[in-house]
Amino acid sequence: MKKQKSTPLIKHNTKRYHFNIQWILPIFVVLLIFSYWGISFIKNLTYQNVYNNISELSEQTTTQLNLSISEQMKFVEIMVDSINSGYFKTVDSIFERYEHDLEDYHFTRLVVLDKQGNGTTSDGHIVENYANIEEFFNQDTVYLSENRPSTVSNNQVNIYSKTFRFQNQDLVLFATVNTEDYKEILLRRLFHGEGGTYLINNSGAILIDSFGEVNQNNVNLYDFLKTKYDLTSSNEIDKLNEMFQNIINRKVGTFDIHFNKTTYFIHYEKLNVNNWYVVSIAPDDTIAEELTTFITISLITCLFITFIVITICVYIDFSNQEKSRKLYHIAYIDPVTSLGNQLYFQENGTRFLQNHDTNCYILSLDINKFKALNNIYGYEFCNKILNSLAQKLTAILPPKHITCRISNDVFASLFYYDGSIETLLDRIFQDTSSFHIDGTSLHINLSIGVYKIKSTKKDINKLLAKAYMARAKIKGLYHNNYYIFDEILEKQLMEEQEIESSMEDALKNEEFVVVYQPKTLTSSEKLIGAEALVRWHKNGTVIPPNKFIPLFEKNKFIMKLDLYIFEKVCQDIATWKEKYNYSPIISINVSKEHFVNENFIDTYVDICNKYHIDRKLIDLEITESATIDEKIDILKVLNVIKEKGFTISIDDFGTGYSSLSMLQNMPIDIIKIDKVFVDKADLNSQKNIINYIMILANRLGVKTIVEGVETKEQVDFVKNLKCDMIQGYYYSKPIDKSEFEDYFNKNK
Ligand code: C2E
Ligand code: CA
Ligand code: CA
Repeated sequence: MKKQKSTPLIKHNTKRYHFNIQWILPIFVVLLIFSYWGISFIKNLTYQNVYNNISELSEQTTTQLNLSISEQMKFVEIMVDSINSGYFKTVDSIFERYEHDLEDYHFTRLVVLDKQGNGTTSDGHIVENYANIEEFFNQDTVYLSENRPSTVSNNQVNIYSKTFRFQNQDLVLFATVNTEDYKEILLRRLFHGEGGTYLINNSGAILIDSFGEVNQNNVNLYDFLKTKYDLTSSNEIDKLNEMFQNIINRKVGTFDIHFNKTTYFIHYEKLNVNNWYVVSIAPDDTIAEELTTFITISLITCLFITFIVITICVYIDFSNQEKSRKLYHIAYIDPVTSLGNQLYFQENGTRFLQNHDTNCYILSLDINKFKALNNIYGYEFCNKILNSLAQKLTAILPPKHITCRISNDVFASLFYYDGSIETLLDRIFQDTSSFHIDGTSLHINLSIGVYKIKSTKKDINKLLAKAYMARAKIKGLYHNNYYIFDEILEKQLMEEQEIESSMEDALKNEEFVVVYQPKTLTSSEKLIGAEALVRWHKNGTVIPPNKFIPLFEKNKFIMKLDLYIFEKVCQDIATWKEKYNYSPIISINVSKEHFVNENFIDTYVDICNKYHIDRKLIDLEITESATIDEKIDILKVLNVIKEKGFTISIDDFGTGYSSLSMLQNMPIDIIKIDKVFVDKADLNSQKNIINYIMILANRLGVKTIVEGVETKEQVDFVKNLKCDMIQGYYYSKPIDKSEFEDYFNKNK
């Protein structure tokens, strides 16, 4: 068994989510710019930090250097002071005394020399003719020498010295340090070994470098840096020059130079001794390494935030799209067939018409006796019929058609077609005649009203109304049929328009008149009352109600008219009571259009009260079709009518497919059997049905009346069936008020 699947028939229905690049892109760009700006801001900040850092580190190194040097100097001072105090008798005793302290102060040895440069060392060496000895004798205070070669070992040394008089001799005391050790102690390498420090004298010669790259004396830092960093750009050389100018002027400073895509930060700081300077250098990549990690983390964070923001935006956008998709569905799509609804038809139909001008058709289509199908098969099954029909129509109709379900079983279709419309309609009938649903095969018939659109400039509703009119012309038949809107309908339409334009005035001008058709008791043939029926006296002619009542029901004017007739009848009843002391039971037709709620009855009660009418004398005729209308809560309405004391008749009984069991729960008083049951030539064929209705009515305690009785034969037939009342031309046609007065005076 093939399962009925509801395929979406509206294109919009299949609409997928779309990615809104138009706003995602700007967000992305903004976030990117923001990230870029943020990172460069942080980068600048970090560079500034590095600047400060290098200055600080360099200052710290200088301070340490100053501290170490002054401690060593102080030690030398102390030694010389103690010698001067006459404590020591020999040079050896001096050496002996301080031998153990040398290591603490990082001195390698002590030396005592005379003005000729001859003397001994604390570790037992003899020195003769020490070069440039006068350099040391020229100093008044403790003096620190630049690097010079050691006379006892192969390395370079720096010497702390101070002159003194010992046993009437001018001598000088040396406390020497190994330059190499000095480097270790004084100038630690900076920034994990990537950066370093140079100690230079005031003419720029490198005394010590913590990199260990300079191994000879008198190398100028300016020349050295120029070669080391391969500085060719005048800008960079200028910066170096500026540094040396500042050093000459005893100034401090920080700057950067660029080499091989690396930035080197340089800080120079003066020392307290000998106009020496400490120059610290650190490449930015040591810092940059940390910075790169930081930037990478920032970048990843930015990208992550961007991703989150975009995800949230996309989510919000998608859920908005989903919401509007749902709203669109609720507003425009029929859930049963997945076709568009009436609103969809109006909006898309209007657009369709704007793009076409010839050979356009509009169809109004419904399933014959669909209500009966609903009663037999139930809603769920019938919904499947509607769905299946929708799919079949979609398959048959020309491309780009707009087909919608307008209401219950009514469909509308708008399309362009330049072939024979009759052939197309035949195909529709052929393809939609049989359905196989849930294992059941069934046959349906369609009524189709067709209107070939003459002017696409017209309002879609007016065009649809013409197709609807064409369909109304053939509605209710049991076989497939169509009607193409023609001159006859055009004329009818004009008449309807004419009626609509004149109805309000007609009511004011009292053109609507009540006539009464007597009702007779079957047993005694006595008059029991009458049915009030409306007539329209228009320009000297009488228009029967079937010409205007259906239209008034459509445009709701019936609500006004029914009330008007009701009041007229009440006036008449009041008159008859007063004038003839006669109170017939009058049946008044109430259109089901009133039954949207039960409040209408209050107005009826008010009118009765106004004319002091006993409500029992009023029989409200409600058509059987009202009892099976899904939009009406008929039980509620009938109960309220009954509560107010009115009599209730079910009119046109037998034509509306109401199930007899339904009647059991309804508070009705009279069943009015439709005239079709006595119309038939062969009355006996109807006998069983009417008999069955009589039995049921008897059981329910409901009275019966047969309408449309015209002949003696029909009267006898009805009498035989033990029907309570008769109404029809046999006794009287509907007659006007005064005729009816004569009638009841004769027959009451
Ligand atoms: P209905 O309520 O079924 O009224 C009975 C119709 O059958 C009346 O037609 C009446 O003239 C006609 N009739 C009665 N006896 C015979 C007969 O022996 N032979 C034939 N051939 N016809 C007979 P009418 O007056 O043309 O009314 C037509 C319909 O218009 C009514 O059918 C009723 O549904 C509606 N109608 C009339 N007046 C009113 C009204 O004031 N309000 C509402 N809502 N509907 C009204
Ligand atoms: Ca009636
Ligand atoms: Ca009737």
